Amino acid sequence: MVKIQNVRGTYDLYGPAKRKAKKVVELASKTVEKYGFEEIETPIFEFTEVFARNLGDTSDIVTKEMYTFEDRGGESLTLRPEGTAGVVRSFISEGMQQNLPLKFYYTGPMFRYERPQKGRQRQFTQFGIEMLGVQTPQADIEAIAMAYSFLRTLGLENSIVVEINSLGDKESRDAYRQKLVAYLKQHINELSFESKERLEKNPLRVLDSKEECDKIVVANAPLYADSLNESSKKFFDEVLKGLDLLDIPYRINNRLVRGLDYYSHTVFELITDKLGAQGTVLAGGRYDGLVAEMGGGDVAGIGWACGVERLSMLLDQDVELPRPVAVIEVGDDVHETALKLAYELRNAGYRVEHAYSGNLKKRMMKANKANAYAALILGSDELAQGNVTYKNLDTGDQKQISLTKVQEELK
Ligand code: ATP
Ligand code: MG
Repeated sequence: MVKIQNVRGTYDLYGPAKRKAKKVVELASKTVEKYGFEEIETPIFEFTEVFARNLGDTSDIVTKEMYTFEDRGGESLTLRPEGTAGVVRSFISEGMQQNLPLKFYYTGPMFRYERPQKGRQRQFTQFGIEMLGVQTPQADIEAIAMAYSFLRTLGLENSIVVEINSLGDKESRDAYRQKLVAYLKQHINELSFESKERLEKNPLRVLDSKEECDKIVVANAPLYADSLNESSKKFFDEVLKGLDLLDIPYRINNRLVRGLDYYSHTVFELITDKLGAQGTVLAGGRYDGLVAEMGGGDVAGIGWACGVERLSMLLDQDVELPRPVAVIEVGDDVHETALKLAYELRNAGYRVEHAYSGNLKKRMMKANKANAYAALILGSDELAQGNVTYKNLDTGDQKQISLTKVQEELK
């Protein structure tokens, strides 16, 4: 028989790991909802062009990481490697241009063909936000503030730093690109093969390279900050002023770029020292050129996305479930009453643990294992008088109460 197993780089999420992942998403949703963001769900696959032109043909995602396949109708489809492209596609195809600004969040699986290792999976979960139609620095400040507040609710404020940079407007980026290309050409023989290619197609990507030889060249490359024009400087200053005002600690990282043409102004990453090489847990930036590039007109955009599994790994403590109450039946003739009591309590909003088999001792053990705070013990003698035994499982105290008073007692 064929051995049945999961695909490399994919994981089954259950038990404590799933609880943590769920908590990460819950806290993120709660935080961004306070800023007026609403959830959007776009399909897990799209026409390949949605990602291929969106992400630029030279990005790692497009050149080596996409899960692309032909469906039975002969269409080329791709499992989404990230969330922004789908949201912008939806914005355009649903004709949402009349309702700006728009604030969306999303969560769900993303797919990238990468070399699996700790914190790097082929199917992973992202939570992300996109804000469309806001040109002012307030959007950048809010986006970063939300990200930081969210990580604070996870208890990570002491192990997280915001790294930030500005790519400026188009004029500044063009000026920078010229300087960069001139510099890289002087060092062309020291660059990796891939970076030589990038130099032609998308030189900014060289700054992103993980190759040692490229890093050495990049270390002395011209700085973005020196190419920003006055209005771009002013924009960046306002963003930083906002972060200062809100007491959000940041570090300017002149080497931080997003190598795609449609990025502008603010780019940022939230980084932890707790995850080794996979330390970036959240990344984002302003993408004022993207909507236009996809044919949706001149609409500003900014967004970020975080890796839910990477963040879950940072949660030291197990996520506790709310404690149930246990219904414990002793003897066959009380089964129907127990069934009904459990049903009614659940309808009234209680979590109820009602074991499927076993004697009193076994059932008490199960109640303790489920971390129940109280047990309602139903024996035939008490039931004959309309009573049950209520036992506080933390103190061990117990007393007889009327079956009709159970909910009162539990409150
Ligand atoms: P990296 O440099 O680690 O490859 P990236 O630039 O490809 O990251 P983004 O596309 O910005 O990452 O995605 C945002 C976040 O999603 C990352 O910061 C990370 O937390 C998470 N992420 C990205 N790729 C993976 C993956 N293969 N497995 C798990 N999480 C991932
Ligand atoms: Mg990557």
